[in-house]
Amino acid sequence: MNEPNVAINMSGLDFRQDVEPLIKEFYPLLYNKAGGVTVSFALEDGRMRLAVGGTSAAGDNVQVCDAAAEITEEFISGETDAKKRHRAYRNQLLRALYRLLSGYTGKELPWGVLTGVRPTKLIFERLERGEAKHLQFMYDNYYVSKEKAALATRIAAVEYQLLDAIDYRNGYSLYIGVPFCPSICNYCSFGSHPIERFADCIEPYIEALKKEIRAVSSCFPGRVLETVYFGGGTPTSISAKQLRELIRCVKESFDMSGVREFTVEAGRPDSITEDKLLLLKDEGITRISINPQSMVERTLETIGRRHTAQQVRDAFAMARRLGFDNINMDLIAGLTGEDINDFDYTLSEIEKLDPDSVTVHTLARKRAARLTTEGELYEGNEARDVAQMVETAASFMKAHGYEPYYLYRQKNMTDNLENVGYARPGKEGLYNILIMEEKQIILACGSGASSKFVRDAGDKRFERVENVKNVHEYIDRIDEMISRKLDYIAEHGIS
Ligand code: SF4
Repeated sequence: MNEPNVAINMSGLDFRQDVEPLIKEFYPLLYNKAGGVTVSFALEDGRMRLAVGGTSAAGDNVQVCDAAAEITEEFISGETDAKKRHRAYRNQLLRALYRLLSGYTGKELPWGVLTGVRPTKLIFERLERGEAKHLQFMYDNYYVSKEKAALATRIAAVEYQLLDAIDYRNGYSLYIGVPFCPSICNYCSFGSHPIERFADCIEPYIEALKKEIRAVSSCFPGRVLETVYFGGGTPTSISAKQLRELIRCVKESFDMSGVREFTVEAGRPDSITEDKLLLLKDEGITRISINPQSMVERTLETIGRRHTAQQVRDAFAMARRLGFDNINMDLIAGLTGEDINDFDYTLSEIEKLDPDSVTVHTLARKRAARLTTEGELYEGNEARDVAQMVETAASFMKAHGYEPYYLYRQKNMTDNLENVGYARPGKEGLYNILIMEEKQIILACGSGASSKFVRDAGDKRFERVENVKNVHEYIDRIDEMISRKLDYIAEHGIS
C-alpha cells in the first residue's frame, strides 16, 4: 500500500496531530490512494498565516487546495492559563483550516473540526459542571452541524441521567478479550484470529488469561466492580467448556456482588450453539450481542462473515426461547457493495426480530483491515448512500421506540459520520457509556486489551496500559502483561 505523502511545516507550536485528521476528512481519497499535501503555518505579529497546497499522485484526480488565509480572530486573548491558551490556540487554528478547506472544496463536515472519538464528552463535561447552552458552543467552537449537535446533546443528556443513577465514580469495569473468530471480516482491525488456524493456541491462551484475571482481581479493594464485558473477537468462538471456565474464573476471583451488567458479545451467529447460550444463562449473563451487520446474503459473503442471514434469525430465536431479554444487534452502514435498498432490507429484517438494542456503525476504513490492505479486491464496489443509511436508521429507531444512548467516532469514517447505540428504555449497555465517556477505570485482560486508568491530577486524565496484540506473544509474555498493570497502579497510587 502506498503511504500518503504529507508534509506539515509549522513555525511555532506543533499541532500536527490535530491538523492532519482534519485534512484527511476533507481529502479521504487522497489519503487512501496516496498523494501529497503540504500545510504551512506561520505566526507573524500575533496573526496566523496558513497555507495549504499540494499535488495529487499520478493518475489520481483528487484536487488539492492551493490557497492561503489570513486569520484575523483575536485568539488566546485574555487567557492566562497555559493549557487553556494552548487549547484555544489549537481550536482557532482548526477553525481557520476548516474555513479554508471548506471554502475551497465546497464541503461541509457534519462534525466540523471535531475529529476525536468522543464528541459527546464535551457536552457531558458541561452537564457535570451544570452548564447549559450546549448546542451553541458546538456550532460556534467546532462548526458541528445543527443535526449532529442536537444528536450529541440528546445522547449526553441520556448518558448523564443513566450514570447519575449509579455511583460510577467509585466503581470500575472489567473487560475480558477473547481474540478468536470463525473467520475474519474484511473491515476488521481488532486483531482477531481465525479460530481454526489458531486452534493450538486456545488452551494456552485461556490459561494465560486466567492467570491475568486472577493476578489483577484484587487491584481495587475499595472499589465496586459494576460491569463486566466479554468481547474480542467473538467470545463464543471457543467451546462451551472453555467459555464457562473463563466466566467462572472471573466470578471466583472478583467480588461480583455489585455487578449490574454482565455482557458477552456472542457476536457471530456461526459461533452460537444451544449449549453455549444455556451456559451463559446458567452463569447469569444479563446481556448478549448477536450481530448480523447486514441481513443481505451477498454482502455477508463479500465481507467474509461466512454465515447466513438465516443463522442470525435462528440464533436470535434460540436466545429468546432460552430467556435472554436483553439482546443487542450491531449493524454497519457502508458495507462493501451496499446501497440504501440493501440497508432498508436489513432494517426490515431487524424489525421482525425486535432486539432490545441496536448499534448502528458507519464503516471506518482501518489501515490494518483487509478492506485497505487488499483494497483492489473491493475497488469499484464501494457502498453508496451511506449518509442516507444513517438517517434512515435514526428514523427507524425512533419509530420503533429506541432511544440513542451512546455515540462514538473513529478515524476514517465514511462521510465523516458516527456510530450510535440505540436502546429501548432500561436496555442500554452501561459499559458502553462508561468506556466511551471515560467515566470509570476499565481493567482489561487478554491480548490487545487496553486498560484505562483515570489520574485525577486536577484534569481527570485517562491513560492506557496496553497488552500486546499477538496471541503468541501474549501467552509467552503473560507475566510482563500482568506487571505492566500492577506496576502502573502501584506507581501512580491508583486505588
Ligand atoms: S466478528 Fe468482529 S472481531 Fe471478528 S473478525 Fe469480524 S469484525 Fe473482527
